[in-house]
Amino acid sequence: MTSCLPALRFIATPRLGAMPHIDNDVKLDFKDVLLRPKRSTLKSRSEVDLTRSFSFRNSKQTYTGVPIIAANMDTVGTFEMARVLCKFSLFTAVHKHYSLDQWQEFASQNPDCLEVNYICLDVANGYSEHFVEFVKDVRKRFPQHTIMAGNVVTGEMVEELILSGADIIKVGIGPGSVCTTRKKTGVGYPQLSAVMECADAAHGLKGHIISDGGCSCPGDVAKAFGAGADFVMLGGMLAGHSESGGELIERDGKKYKLFYGMSSEMAMKKYSGGVAEYRASEGKTVEVPFKGDVEHTIRDILGGIRSTCTYVGAAKLKELSRRTTFIRVTQQVNPIFSDVS
Ligand code: 5GP
Repeated sequence: MTSCLPALRFIATPRLGAMPHIDNDVKLDFKDVLLRPKRSTLKSRSEVDLTRSFSFRNSKQTYTGVPIIAANMDTVGTFEMARVLCKFSLFTAVHKHYSLDQWQEFASQNPDCLEVNYICLDVANGYSEHFVEFVKDVRKRFPQHTIMAGNVVTGEMVEELILSGADIIKVGIGPGSVCTTRKKTGVGYPQLSAVMECADAAHGLKGHIISDGGCSCPGDVAKAFGAGADFVMLGGMLAGHSESGGELIERDGKKYKLFYGMSSEMAMKKYSGGVAEYRASEGKTVEVPFKGDVEHTIRDILGGIRSTCTYVGAAKLKELSRRTTFIRVTQQVNPIFSDVS
């Protein structure tokens, strides 16, 4: 009998602090909420002003525009996209795979579209100490550039990156339409809650945030702004257009465009000669039905957000988050014709 004792003693005295922690607060995604309409004096959505002006904490630069950004993916952040989006005062984070010659040609033909005083430091995991040091280093070397850095999803890391010199923090781990991070790693954070918590942290330090990923319709973009995002970055919603990158495919008389994550096997084969042995791809490839010119989609998104603002009584996009009350829902759309767009 005595031989059982050591084992019993081991079970009865677990090592303190070794237990995993569960955060029992419910964290929400765009699909879990709707915006509650409010009494308003606005007569028409045409009265709504979607432009915003910001003054950045560290660069001291100012910005005025409609704060929606095409993602820095080679299928979305193209020169063709930038040319159209700049007509609507939207940003395009141009992807990093253009050559210097291509840049020179674009710059000479579109001098009005260029904003060269922004630097986007984009890594899948913005939590590494190495990345924080990198942000500090870039801030030292480019004191007057506006630095966007990410991605992170929690307030303490937003604060650390801002205090290290970043102006705008990219928020989102795992919500992207072609992202497989949550499946491959089990890591992530529901995007609406991430935006609410990170916006609060950033605004406390006079910093700004981008809600990056997870928007599937104009209503989601409005919810991201309502949650406190200063900018919203879009990938999937801008994919599949004439201006998007990715191969055009025709099958059974229907057109599709390839859209893939920047850490997908397809992107890694294209740019780095394949997936390195020590890592797994964290993105996938999809075929998006061809949607024609992106201008229609942009008008649809901007029209949707203007309408959101009239429902909650916000005359300006700036007022949207102050006028926002989210209600938790179990269903947001009627699914009866869900296959019909
Ligand atoms: P979407 O608007 O398509 O939902 O999300 C776009 C965002 O997904 C991008 O801005 C970027 O942050 C993220 N993303 C793009 N490619 C990948 C990828 O291959 N893996 C992961 N984890 N995220 C990606």
